[in-house]
Parts: sequence; C-alpha cells; structure tokens
Amino acid sequence: MTPSYKGRFAPSPTGDLHVGNAWVAVLAWLDARRHGGAFVLRVEDLDEARCRDAYRQAMIDDLRWLGIDWDEGPDVGGPAAPYEQRLRRESYERALEHLRSARELYPCFCPRSRLLSIASAPQGLFGDEPRYDRRCLRLSDARRSELAASKPPSLRLHVRDDALITVDDRLLGRTTARPAEGGDFVVRRADGVIAYHLAVVVDDHAMGVTDVIRGSDLFPSAFRQVYLAERLGYAPPRYAHVPLVVDGDGRRLAKRQGDLSLRALREAGVRPQRLVGLLLWLAGQADRPEDISLREAVGAFDLVRVPRHPIVWRAAYTAWL
Ligand code: GLU
Repeated sequence: MTPSYKGRFAPSPTGDLHVGNAWVAVLAWLDARRHGGAFVLRVEDLDEARCRDAYRQAMIDDLRWLGIDWDEGPDVGGPAAPYEQRLRRESYERALEHLRSARELYPCFCPRSRLLSIASAPQGLFGDEPRYDRRCLRLSDARRSELAASKPPSLRLHVRDDALITVDDRLLGRTTARPAEGGDFVVRRADGVIAYHLAVVVDDHAMGVTDVIRGSDLFPSAFRQVYLAERLGYAPPRYAHVPLVVDGDGRRLAKRQGDLSLRALREAGVRPQRLVGLLLWLAGQADRPEDISLREAVGAFDLVRVPRHPIVWRAAYTAWL
C-alpha cells in the first residue's frame, strides 16, 4: 500500500473516447487502486472551441460503464463531478504571474505562418516539431510595445539552454534530456487560451497527483513539464508512459474512428467485462482474454508487465467483443 498515491486520467472532450483511451484509463485506474491510492478525473477542456458538452457527458458515462470511479472533484456540480480545466483559469493565471515576475516568460508576436517555416528541432526527443528561433526574445522594448499595440502576443517560457531534466519512467527507464532542445514553448496562446503544458503542471500539483500514467506520445512532454514544475517550485510526479494502441498501419487510434468508440461499443451491447478482459490480456496481465470486471482485476495487476511496444488493434479483437 502506498497511501500517498494519487493517480489521474485527463481526457479532452474533443470526441468520443475509444478503446485506446480506455486502455490508458484502465491502466491508470488499476495502478492507483493496486497501490491503495486515490484517483482523479480531470476534463481537459481549455480549448473551448474544440470541446463539446455532449462529449464531456458521454466521456463520464463511458468511464463509469468501464467501472472507473474517482474520489474527488471541485465540489461544484454534484459530488461526483470531475475537475474541469475551464473552471480553473485563476490557478493558471497565478502560475503565469509567478513565472512572469521571475522573468521566465516573454511575449511572442510571430504569426503561425512564420512558426511553420522555422526549422525543426534536431532529430531526437522532440522529433520534427518546429523549434522556435527566439526572434521575439531579442526584440527591443520599444519594438515590443509597438507590436503589442497592434496584436495580442502568445507567452513563451524561456527554457534555459543548460537545463538538464531526468525522467525516471516506470516503464521506459531513466532518460536525461535538455528541454531546450524542443525550444521555448507557449504557455498562453495569443487568443488567451492556456496551453496544455502549463495547465497539466499546475493541475497535477494542485490536485496532489503523485503518479501520471498516460500514452507514450506524451513522453517528450514530460521533460518540458518537469522543467516547468521546477520553475514553479513544485515536486514533479512519477511517470509511466504506456504504449499506444495503433491501427494496422501503425497510426494511433483517433477519436474519429467511430466504430472503436466506447459509445458505439456500449450501444452495440458489448459488456464492459469483455473489453476489460481483452485490455488486460493485451497488457500482459492474463494468458488469454477473459471477462473480468475492473474491480476484480485490481488484486493481480502489475504495471511492469505492460509491453513496451505499440499495441496493434486487430479486427479480430473488435469481433471478439
Ligand atoms: N489531455 C491530454 C490528452 O487528451 C492528456 C494529458 C496528460 O495525460 O497529461 O491526450
């Protein structure tokens, strides 16, 4: 038992959850419960233009159907209501204020077209993401004020070139990298929307999350997020990045793949125990897929048995459900 363990699942309501999301949610929930820990659901709905209320509600229904429960929320909207990022703006603004007074931020006026033309980061952890060339860091005060009068800037974190971050991932092992390799990243967009990295770091700290279990596509983000946590004076959480569920072409499942949505499965009369049994087999927890409820699976769960390679979703799995 680790009484201080607190895990979380943090989906964005931009579409229906699918079996790939269920995979992450199930692993995160089981690891938390296996450690006698608490669990938090956080709806990552900062980008209101992309999020829908209907998806938010379906997401909650899907998770309950799977057998996932959570222990706390903001105490608005009923006892079981999850945290919602769109209601937490003040916390993010406070963190921005802290970073601003520590001179860690600078305004960036570069239009999207310019950012897209900037050379990529060297092949490595941050892949082919464009790496910002710091043009706006070098603006004179006069030029900055002139630009600010005509358009609102985004805010970037000035990532120190010499900073080294080590992530000791429970599945991927220990990696040390320079977050500066990925460039100075945006913490508030020009349209005022708080950027993902800032919100996640502030929330994981505010909610007392000790353990983050999420898809391995977010592994590079961990280096930025640990760096950001350090700038804010927070102790970073422990991480485990689990393999993604991909289709036959190796592409991660997307929310638009409707037939693999949990809503579609529920509507087709699939029993949650069936899906959970399949996911646990894929997670190396059983010799064959066998119907089991999440609650029954807690006792024997061991995250270390989860494979390190992507999980290819085969048509036979859908048929088996
Ligand atoms: N909201 C993110 C997503 O939907 C996940 C954030 C996280 O787990 O850090 O992919």
